[in-house]
Amino acid sequence: MSFSKNNPVLISADSQASQIHHAGWIVADENTVIKDGYIEVENQKIIHVSSDRPKGKIIDQGPGILMPPLVNTHLHLELSALKNLLPFDQGFRHWVKVLLEKREQLGKENLISAAEQAIQTLITAGVLFVGDISTLNITKKILENSALRGICFHEFLGTRMDDFKCEKKKEISISVAGHAPHSSSPQLLTALKQNTRASGVPFSIHVAESEDESVFIRDKKGGWADFLLSRGIDGSKWEIGGKTPVAHLKSLGILDSDTIAVHVLNADVNDMQIMARSNAHVCICPRSNLNLHRKLPDIPMMISCGIFPALGTDSLASCDSLSIFDEMKFIRQHYPDLSCEMIFSMATINGARALKLDLQTGTLAPDKNAQFLYLPLDVKHKKNIFQEIICHE
Ligand SMILES: [Zn+2]
Repeated sequence: MSFSKNNPVLISADSQASQIHHAGWIVADENTVIKDGYIEVENQKIIHVSSDRPKGKIIDQGPGILMPPLVNTHLHLELSALKNLLPFDQGFRHWVKVLLEKREQLGKENLISAAEQAIQTLITAGVLFVGDISTLNITKKILENSALRGICFHEFLGTRMDDFKCEKKKEISISVAGHAPHSSSPQLLTALKQNTRASGVPFSIHVAESEDESVFIRDKKGGWADFLLSRGIDGSKWEIGGKTPVAHLKSLGILDSDTIAVHVLNADVNDMQIMARSNAHVCICPRSNLNLHRKLPDIPMMISCGIFPALGTDSLASCDSLSIFDEMKFIRQHYPDLSCEMIFSMATINGARALKLDLQTGTLAPDKNAQFLYLPLDVKHKKNIFQEIICHE
């Protein structure tokens, strides 16, 4: 997202005092748009949203829009230093190979400082809640020291899980993620999922992202099996075969309402129905998918199966920005039949639900956090408001 006079302003009521915020428009959720609205807050919580002017001193934010902060449900802050360093045109396996090499060459200090910068850019772009994936376990501290809220997922690959404690916390909760069905053994995935069960935090996993993954899970051989062997992992011993990646995860008991399945790109209607019936959350990253796989997720099919996807950007190693406004705009351009209201929900409440943060955020409603965005847009008509939010420069 470019810097302009229309950049969102994050408003966070951090005192215990009562406040009344006014703006030309309040977009509380996809069904609730209030002209000339007021948000009353107290003890850092929203207590009332309405068009009736309450008694008391008013903080006038301006003629623009107050809306919920955005949720980036899936990103990898620790890969931010890899921006513009990786080739997209030589296949997924080559991209993974170069990513691992360059990440090693850059070293932890460079990775950490780029992640810190990326956090500032995220906040400037109106993202306050994140689901961050860290394989190197280097972003937890910087997330805890930032204004961001959400989940830090420690990601595991291969066959082994170190001792790890998941923990629900007020600002940054700690959880685990499996990398993907083709890079993490079935035993590892089952153990990781089990580890999250008692703590009330979600589990995350990439699934059905690449053709390599689908072929390996179905046939137990192919280019990916060779790649794993070159890294010392013998996938031929894994209990896989004859299934799609989605069906494989279902058979392992991984898919439920506390799991976030990321990508779901190489998935047919049967996979989508499995996903919908399991109540697992789906997070899509369409800009990353187009760059790495020259393919886009079938969002209309997801919706027709009863899946309401959340939005992620994946990392700067596969996507130009971590901005969810940019992701919304891209979806609007590539899926003209999706309603702007639906896209707005993907970027707000769907992400909040996937991260299990919907009691805190996702809409502007009583008892949720007194944190919102002010978008300084000049909107004349209610009927255009979601289009203007998504497509503003
Ligand atoms: Zn990812």
